[in-house]
Amino acid sequence: MAPTPVNPAGPRLLLRRMREVMASPQPPQEKLDQMVRVIANNMVAEVCSIYLVRAGDILELFATVGLKAEAVHKTNLRVGEGLIGEIAARGAPLNLADAQSHPNFAYRPETGEDIYHSLMGVPVIRGGRVLGVLAVQNVTQRLYTEEETEALQTVAMVLAELVGSGELIDPSEVHEGTFAQGHPPKIDGVTMAEGIAIGQVVLHEPRVQVTRLIAEDEAIELVRLDEALSSLRSSLDNLLERADLGIEGDHFDVLETYRMFANDRGWVEKIRDGIRGGLTAEAAVQRVQVDNRVRMAKINDPYLRERLSDLDDLANRLIRHLMGLDQGGVIDLPEQTVVVARNLGPTELLDYDRARLRGVILAEGTPSAHVAIIAKALGIPVIGQVEGIVGLVDPGDQIIVDAMTAQVFLLPTQDVVDLYEEALALRERRRAAYAEHRDLPAITKDGVEIGLHMNAGLLVDLPHLSDTGAHGIGLFRTEFQFMVGSTFPRHEAQRELYSRVLDAAGDKPVVFRTLDIGSDKVVPFLERPKEENPALGWRAIRMGLDRPALLRYQLRALLAATAGRDLRVMFPLVSDVSEFLAARSILEKELKRHVRVGREPPGRLWVGTMLEVPALAWQLDALIPHVDFVSIGSNDLMQYLFAADRGNTMLTDRYDILSPAALSFLRMIVDTLQRGGVSVSLCGEAAGKTVEAMALIGIGLRSLSMTPASVGPVKEMIRTLDVAKLRSYLLTLLPLPDHSLRTKLTNFARDHGVEL
Ligand code: PEP
Ligand code: MG
Repeated sequence: MAPTPVNPAGPRLLLRRMREVMASPQPPQEKLDQMVRVIANNMVAEVCSIYLVRAGDILELFATVGLKAEAVHKTNLRVGEGLIGEIAARGAPLNLADAQSHPNFAYRPETGEDIYHSLMGVPVIRGGRVLGVLAVQNVTQRLYTEEETEALQTVAMVLAELVGSGELIDPSEVHEGTFAQGHPPKIDGVTMAEGIAIGQVVLHEPRVQVTRLIAEDEAIELVRLDEALSSLRSSLDNLLERADLGIEGDHFDVLETYRMFANDRGWVEKIRDGIRGGLTAEAAVQRVQVDNRVRMAKINDPYLRERLSDLDDLANRLIRHLMGLDQGGVIDLPEQTVVVARNLGPTELLDYDRARLRGVILAEGTPSAHVAIIAKALGIPVIGQVEGIVGLVDPGDQIIVDAMTAQVFLLPTQDVVDLYEEALALRERRRAAYAEHRDLPAITKDGVEIGLHMNAGLLVDLPHLSDTGAHGIGLFRTEFQFMVGSTFPRHEAQRELYSRVLDAAGDKPVVFRTLDIGSDKVVPFLERPKEENPALGWRAIRMGLDRPALLRYQLRALLAATAGRDLRVMFPLVSDVSEFLAARSILEKELKRHVRVGREPPGRLWVGTMLEVPALAWQLDALIPHVDFVSIGSNDLMQYLFAADRGNTMLTDRYDILSPAALSFLRMIVDTLQRGGVSVSLCGEAAGKTVEAMALIGIGLRSLSMTPASVGPVKEMIRTLDVAKLRSYLLTLLPLPDHSLRTKLTNFARDHGVEL
């Protein structure tokens, strides 16, 4: 059949008519009825129908011209059923010259549609979710043109906004929508901080609600677009030129790509087409963005997906520029907030009201990222690497964060919510049980006592010392005070924090680690040189030794805070004995000065080092005479041992601390130090995971320091473990060629009744 020429009046006139309908003072149903008439007229179609999703994924005919009026609010199709259901399920248009011969055609006699042969339907999509289907039909067998499909999609986008914003129909009439294929309501990610949360979505950078959809003057909209594009481009240029961004590295690549996209003629031309079709500039950007999201859902290639999601971000930025809005903005948080973001820095997490923040979902992020460490300290579950999450949710959506199994449930059904509420209650009961075990010793079944300490870095962590029953603070990350502030913490601020930590700890030991700045630990107010490989760069004790003023200043604050109490100081990222000796001698000089000016010296002073750089492991015999204790920082030690960036999402599952290589290496370190009479502990994230902690005890560690929430579960594991049995089994595993011993160790735990 020859295609009918496109209506010369085109979508612009149609959008204008739609605006008139919206402006008219009539009840919603009449507006909808008029809307379908206007669309049918403009598209030269005999039928135009709007189906909207009701609860239970049912598509209901809400308005029609051409089909029998009595079918309205009667004809129902399940998502996936019939052609209309298929359009909703796939989230993609369907264009058929002979609809009735399609295998999925579902005849509904009450509609009287048997006389219509051709059908074109498009999904009504908002925020990645299908709200309904808009369809036109004709008696003759004809294929609709590409321009017609485009036009109907534009109309569908406007409809989606009108329906979604409640302007066209009462929101209680329709469901939040269903997910098209490729947008599953359950998405897997990677656990960054354990726990479970049920709450409502708050988008970290909220997508802006486009309210003005239909343009009054095309020329003005084209100018607005050009202006917004140029301000977008210059803001990207500014970002690139900002002194704290390197000229190489990931952020540079990302921004370069953004800049490339912002100048991409294809993208801009598509937006211009939207404007020429009658949309406002912001609505046209959104229209292209919707297409882009549908494409994104179908692409498996991670590189392409990443690029498309950059484009999605860029569209959001452009919309903000068009609407004259600053980035971000203050938002009222729901009682139970789940923050959804592409990525989040530790300080950004702390910006959210603790009393309302229940969970975090990130499109990126890795378990050892510092946002995860802070989230653990706060007891907030975080799931990272949840692909496409930002585009899939709308603010206010109900969502479940199951960071125990690393799954996110979007718009869960009531059954799922009930299940999780039960799980939350169970966790609460377990927490209460841990609290009851708080004062029980951490002793294995065969009588081996394990030191259980907690990691901390902020005042907010301190109450956990008593409520977990931890033996002390095995790692106090002093840099957190610097990372969360906007200005340099002066001597008095530092002294006060350390003093309050010691007050809270009472008789329990606290290990203060000196500043570990650099790499992923960004201190906003400190100028740092640009580096190609910051993780291998000028950081931690390297900075402390090259610019000793900062280190001295901190040591003074520590000595002043101690005021006669015991003091334990530990240096980060020491690579060889000479670095440790240099750092120790700075401390000793400061101690002399402290005493000289008449201040009270610490009761006892212990000086230790982190073991995070593999080189130091081969100099332990030379270190032993000089060091009072060693704490293994497995987060960094593993990243250097396996040459695998701890922040790179593509490497998260690549290497395992439960591998023969890592465990043999750790065993050698522990054996050597214990033989030398030096106390050794481990304070990386692995210490707080039950299987890992079990293996670490198996290779000989007798002291662990972990995130506070892990103390209870790890103690329970310890109290059900027979170390001798585990050790003899584990030693047989170390020579194996296996990539990981995780399954074998988990099976051991199960077979021997070890509580994981
Ligand atoms: C580590 O590297 O394991 C460690 C505890 O230090 P951080 O995570 O603070 O770098
Ligand atoms: Mg470290």
